[in-house]
Amino acid sequence: MGWDEIKGQESALGFLQRSLASGRLAHAYLFHGPEGVGKRMAALLTARVLLCRGKDRPCDVCPACRQVRSGTHPDLHQAFPVGKSRRIRIEQVRRMLEASRLNSNQGGWKVFILDDAETMGAEGGNALLKFLEEPSSGTLIILVSSRPDQLLPTIVSRCQSVRFGLWPDSLLHSEALSSRASDLTAPLLASLAEGSPGRLMGLLEGDWLEGRSLILDLRTRCGQGESPGRLAQELLAFVKEQEKKVAGETDETVGALPAAERRRREEARIAAQRVVTMSTVLEILQGWYRDLYLFRNGAGRDIIINRDRIEEFSDSSAQESSPTTAFRALEAARESLLRRNASAPLVFERLFYELQGSRDSRG
Ligand SMILES: [Zn+2]
Repeated sequence: MGWDEIKGQESALGFLQRSLASGRLAHAYLFHGPEGVGKRMAALLTARVLLCRGKDRPCDVCPACRQVRSGTHPDLHQAFPVGKSRRIRIEQVRRMLEASRLNSNQGGWKVFILDDAETMGAEGGNALLKFLEEPSSGTLIILVSSRPDQLLPTIVSRCQSVRFGLWPDSLLHSEALSSRASDLTAPLLASLAEGSPGRLMGLLEGDWLEGRSLILDLRTRCGQGESPGRLAQELLAFVKEQEKKVAGETDETVGALPAAERRRREEARIAAQRVVTMSTVLEILQGWYRDLYLFRNGAGRDIIINRDRIEEFSDSSAQESSPTTAFRALEAARESLLRRNASAPLVFERLFYELQGSRDSRG
């Protein structure tokens, strides 16, 4: 286990590996890019390479490697957003500054990682500037951020930038296949993951394939004239079920954190999962109408996402909503749920009502 733990980031990792091998490391790095693509893992991996006491670094078996993995290495200092406001507090930054003045515990590198670094705000940023302006040797600082535009420009300009990108669909597709997706469902999962392997894992864990069947079946029943209120209730029950499943799960990177931080992250994760669940539900429906639109316009099987249900598009008895109306209704639902925080039962009911209102039977 080592650099191959992180896929789809050849250019970022190649750059880091070359810098580590040549011993010409910058004093500070900014790992930036979308959520869920491996930035945090890469930061911890860099720490493991520097702190490892084995021969082939990171060896993954020496005490240092194990301590980095469990978040207990005395020369690895991490700061994460805490509390309700989900921010890195000024005291956390100050504690890092103090640690930077001490000698390294193991006589080697001292590594500092600020996760979601933009949450430290201007106050934390200004405190950190001192640290960046007066680098001491043997010290490496890594800022991890998916919103680098919210960092102080003076901070950004003092860090070597390392960009992490979205995964291409082809990589998500093969990753889905090597997990437990089938030929038929991998394209759907790859498309729902929107370039993020973290999100793909969430989709695989969350039984989204079953979820999709349920959601698309609700849509069929909607076409058959079933009450929108009732369909909305069933959809809501599914969303709640998904949220329950996520509680208690942990992801890999969380293992490297102290216990209190792990708990806080767990809460944040459940809240974040609600947003993911809601948007995935809407995207599944959106994907369906996209396919329907493409199919009606003569598109080939290869670009249909829901190709395992392709026969339904040509079922002449099916009452389908017009894709154009469906797109508009889904966009309105997304806006209400995710931006205006509207009541989910009402939004779902309205959605089904609108889908039903625009039925046709063109097949
Ligand atoms: Zn090691």
